Amino acid sequence: MRPLPRADIKVGFACNNRCVFCAQGEKRSESGAIPFDELIARIESVKGETRGLVLTGGEPTMHKDILRIVASAAAMGYRPIQIQTNGRMMAYPKAIDALLRAGATEFSPSLHGSTAEIHDGLTRAPRSFAQTTAGIGNVTSRNIPVVTNTVITKSNVQDLPNIVALLGSLGVRHAQLAFVHPVGSAEVYFDEVVPRLPEVGEALRAARDIARQLGMRLVCEGIPYCFLRGMEELAVEDQIPHTTVIDLDGERADYSEWRVVEGKSHGEPCERCAVRRTCEGPWREYPAAFGWSEFVPLDALFASSNSPSPNSPLRKKP
Ligand code: SF4
Repeated sequence: MRPLPRADIKVGFACNNRCVFCAQGEKRSESGAIPFDELIARIESVKGETRGLVLTGGEPTMHKDILRIVASAAAMGYRPIQIQTNGRMMAYPKAIDALLRAGATEFSPSLHGSTAEIHDGLTRAPRSFAQTTAGIGNVTSRNIPVVTNTVITKSNVQDLPNIVALLGSLGVRHAQLAFVHPVGSAEVYFDEVVPRLPEVGEALRAARDIARQLGMRLVCEGIPYCFLRGMEELAVEDQIPHTTVIDLDGERADYSEWRVVEGKSHGEPCERCAVRRTCEGPWREYPAAFGWSEFVPLDALFASSNSPSPNSPLRKKP
């Protein structure tokens, strides 16, 4: 069952990281933070449609009015209120406490490597690894819901098992691994950033096994089922809540629809695939660059192997 709908409000694109894969690219230089009154009007505008709110950016903790924004949203009755963050500000316990007092209920920090070399190399922000790992530990120690995000790139594919192990040691119980969406900076640095999908499977399997050992919930986004053979339970797409996004310019978008209609795509192999109606397909920029030859329809795979696992999408209703 899908979780309840949520609104995803971008408060500004300022960020103290400069991730090489950032989907927002250099928008930070094009626009400043949204003024408090305007943000409150935007949050009010979706009140009838959702009770769940995600504050994102950029880095939402860099907005000078973030505490007032959270408090106002809480007063409007929003719950949960999630702060989607690079996690660096969470290194300061007072910042977490202030956000919790204002009404934040969840945090979604991002960790992209198990070492400073890998993480800081991707964020292009020295000391971000030290702050983010300290921040994650500070949040988990307060026993509030945390779901981490890790963007899968060429630089960290082999590191995925170590990242999951580190997250587990920091007290994380729910982690997401998201295949890089090749837009924004990731489009600019495509060759350095985007791994080939067949290369991800082995590391993902090892990461899955570690998560199981640690009792963590691990999910992944942006990896079609044909690259998740035997790991179909990791796919999170059918559990993503219906999301309304309000972008910096105030434009509203139905992200759930956009993701399927515009963000992702299907190709010729998909037309012969048993899960065509369940699978969203890859981010469309991937086959645009590499073609469809890596995509092997699931019925062909399963025809030469055993029957589908209990979690296979082949067992789901079409
Ligand atoms: S529908 Fe296409 S992308 Fe999805 S699993 Fe089947 S072949 Fe792969």
